[in-house]
Amino acid sequence: MPTNPTLLAIDQGTTSSRAILFSRDSRIIALKQKELTLYYPEKGWVEQDAVAIWKDTLRVCRAALRSAPDEAACLAAIGITNQRETTILWDRRTGQPVYNAIVWQDRRTAAACERLRAAGHEEKVRAKTGLLLDPYFSATKIAWILENVPGVRERAERGDIAFGTVDCWLLWNLTGGAVHATDATNAARTMLFNIRNQSWDEELLKIFNIPGTLLPEVRDNVAPFGTARKKFLGRDIVVGGMAGDQQAALIGQACFEKGMVKSTYGTGCFALMNIGGEFRLSDNRLLTTQAYRFNGQTTYALEGSIFVAGAAIQWLRDGLKLFRRAADSEALALSVESSKGVYFVPAFTGLGAPYWEPQARAAISGLTRDSTAAHIVRAALEAQAFQTRDLMEAMKADAGGVPPVIRADGGLVANEFVCRFLAAMLDIPVEIPAVAETTALGAAYLAGLQAGVYAGLGEIRNGWRCARRYEPEMLKPGEREALYDGWKKAVKAVLPISA
Ligand code: ADP
Repeated sequence: MPTNPTLLAIDQGTTSSRAILFSRDSRIIALKQKELTLYYPEKGWVEQDAVAIWKDTLRVCRAALRSAPDEAACLAAIGITNQRETTILWDRRTGQPVYNAIVWQDRRTAAACERLRAAGHEEKVRAKTGLLLDPYFSATKIAWILENVPGVRERAERGDIAFGTVDCWLLWNLTGGAVHATDATNAARTMLFNIRNQSWDEELLKIFNIPGTLLPEVRDNVAPFGTARKKFLGRDIVVGGMAGDQQAALIGQACFEKGMVKSTYGTGCFALMNIGGEFRLSDNRLLTTQAYRFNGQTTYALEGSIFVAGAAIQWLRDGLKLFRRAADSEALALSVESSKGVYFVPAFTGLGAPYWEPQARAAISGLTRDSTAAHIVRAALEAQAFQTRDLMEAMKADAGGVPPVIRADGGLVANEFVCRFLAAMLDIPVEIPAVAETTALGAAYLAGLQAGVYAGLGEIRNGWRCARRYEPEMLKPGEREALYDGWKKAVKAVLPISA
């Protein structure tokens, strides 16, 4: 190994494909990014061009390596992290996708999920996968392609078609079609993988009417996944680690202890709590998922998914035009002493955890004659903390305790008001890591473990650095609870009457 080995993280996300070259001590040497187009062919449908996902990824990898040739020469391994659940089916012989990638946000299979629920399958699915029967996951998306693209089911039954989430698709392409494999965290989001016994589940395949011939091999998060061909990156290079984006962030935040929590605030918000090696279902409508699998040993996590976090700030900026840059929201929020009874429930696409209410819609409530844009903006920022508090209440009830600290990341944590209010509303300190790119860093760590750049998790744990820490000081206990009660009433008002 070179004395200064570097690691290339591919972070293939919903809105962009990125490649980041890291030094061994987590310094970003090069970062290249390309925006990715989303297509909305019908109401509730969301698709991407699978070939563009691959080509863009290859392009940003080449650009990142080219921009730092000396460090690129010391590249030890590649790690891949990706938007989860997004579903691609392709021809094993030609490598051509048979349909666009169906993106995780796509709701076209809502009615199919409803039918499966009515047929009494939800408990079985949950017991094996930890997931709720929702279009979010891959299984019903695969079934949709098999049903709706002529000839694909027959070809699949003959063994000519492969399925993969984005990690698997990129690996297959990087290896020139030699490897059809995924990792345990991505497999866990398909709704076909039994996360208790770590195998594709025959009964689930039957329920969703999917032939097992489609499926990739499932490996640990750290594994010799395959060799990216010389023709792509100038020399053969090992893909040594893969994980879905939220799990990669958990690893990038070094949350390896039971009870540790990371919360990522980007377009949406995803909080994961490490619950150790024992599978358990949530009694509070959180998901159970695989945190990671090392040396065949599985660690589980409880996951709370909130669909709209930073997207609410984007809407205030682009929809209402209340400010020009997302960062301006902070000064506006601080220009008033409180939100003065105004609440903003950002349920633009329904509510995720712990409500799971697709029919809910967003609302701004508690307006009076003297409410201003500043109160509304402040309410939108405060909503980030209220939504996280909802998740923390659920995690507390499930896990029997609260974490001593929350490790937060994502674009929104640049906003210090959000961080301070979050700490106060949770009554837990909030820590922001020195390396903000936790998702990509997690993928780099996995690759580095495989390549021997890191000796083990202990080294990664010790390398984690806190850049900023926020104590829960902003609110008095009475204020905190009164504000949270107001939030719960505001949420109740946007739920359908029957809920
Ligand atoms: P993603 O990875 O989901 O695209 P990012 O982690 O890049 O998202 O975060 C971007 C989101 O954070 C945007 O929705 C943006 O509105 C919001 N955001 C970024 N900076 C700030 C800020 N200073 N204050 C409030 N919101 C912000």
